[in-house]
Amino acid sequence: MRTLILKTASPVSVSASPLAGNVNRTLEYLPGTAVRGALAANYLRSGAASHPDFQALFASNEVRYGNLYPYRGVPAQPVPLTAYSCKRHPGFGADNDAPHGVFDLMIDLLLWQETKGKAQVPEMCGYESACSMPLDSFSGFCLFNERDCRYESVKATSRQRGHTELRDETQAALVGSLYFVEMLNEGQRFAGQIAGNQPLLDKIACLLEEPLRLGMGQTRGLGKCSKEDFFSAPLRQLEPIGPQNGLAGRLCRLNAAIQQRGAEQTADKLYFTLTCHSDLIVRDRFLRYLSYLPLDAIQQSLPGADTAMSSFRPVGTIARTRLLPGWSSAWKLPKECAVAIAKGSVFVYGAERSSLGCFGGDNKVENALAKLLERLEQDGLGERRNEGFGIVVACDPFHYHRSSDEQLAETEKARL
Ligand SMILES: [Zn+2]
Repeated sequence: MRTLILKTASPVSVSASPLAGNVNRTLEYLPGTAVRGALAANYLRSGAASHPDFQALFASNEVRYGNLYPYRGVPAQPVPLTAYSCKRHPGFGADNDAPHGVFDLMIDLLLWQETKGKAQVPEMCGYESACSMPLDSFSGFCLFNERDCRYESVKATSRQRGHTELRDETQAALVGSLYFVEMLNEGQRFAGQIAGNQPLLDKIACLLEEPLRLGMGQTRGLGKCSKEDFFSAPLRQLEPIGPQNGLAGRLCRLNAAIQQRGAEQTADKLYFTLTCHSDLIVRDRFLRYLSYLPLDAIQQSLPGADTAMSSFRPVGTIARTRLLPGWSSAWKLPKECAVAIAKGSVFVYGAERSSLGCFGGDNKVENALAKLLERLEQDGLGERRNEGFGIVVACDPFHYHRSSDEQLAETEKARL
């Protein structure tokens, strides 16, 4: 696995949705699909599509091209959909313009679900006991600043450029044909991962020597990106899922945070969460796109884990879907629209500890489950994983991270 950092050398516009209205919005990141397409175009300038190298690099599942998210020296992740912030002053406490902080309500919503509506879910901002604005969902990208142990927003800047069609006869603007293209500004950095075996990654390194062209408007000067770095180390190493080297692990920390809230209904249960760090495409056996993540889909990605996973039940889902348009450069035709579960979606699963006998002794449960979840993180879930889809993180620290300031009240520690 290697980390790729690209810098936009010209404005880049990657269509976010099928065009409607007269503004063509761009995604705020560079999707793996576009990176793969740009590398394939570089290859085809000097090679043939029938060559085995081309097939291995772009037409098989041997290489996985991850999404490239905004990069500011620290890798970014999508903000989970369980994040809420003040409606009037949204943003993380560490951001500019003195925002009122972000709450992750995953545990609150889980307790609300488990206590059948008895547990309270915060609805008001309550900043400095004065702000009475309601909480609103908060999205975008964030990074974890390890130095300050705080989350911060990361935003790719963009602008819009207006165009109009010309009337053939008069060469004047055609009435009703004004449209705008939104584009990411030049000079920004995006980082993500490309996974594959060493010889194939070396070939990609050669292809990266030439600038890449991504997204729309390439013949009009848009979409030029150049490689800033391509190194063999992961961007951010999260704490292991299971207990290891004296660390409690993400699974234990998440469950400790849930248990700390003291709801009876959660006392004898073990929970884990899956948070989508990229869009996820899952279909059922009738090939219908799903907007949730059933345990069957997880079991399919984890051969041999059928019995272990069957004790768990989905206990909470916060998900959105997104239409995925596509354009095939080879066919010069639009691709079929797929429906994906949007990045940031969160799925929570729980099981009674008494039903987890299949894992072996009581102490081994966390270790065994952590191994399964590690495999899930490594291999991903669902379809089109080689284009960056299906990246999930188990027990994301975002859900249980609390401020280490001892003087703060318990509710204030949760303000990120
Ligand atoms: Zn507020």
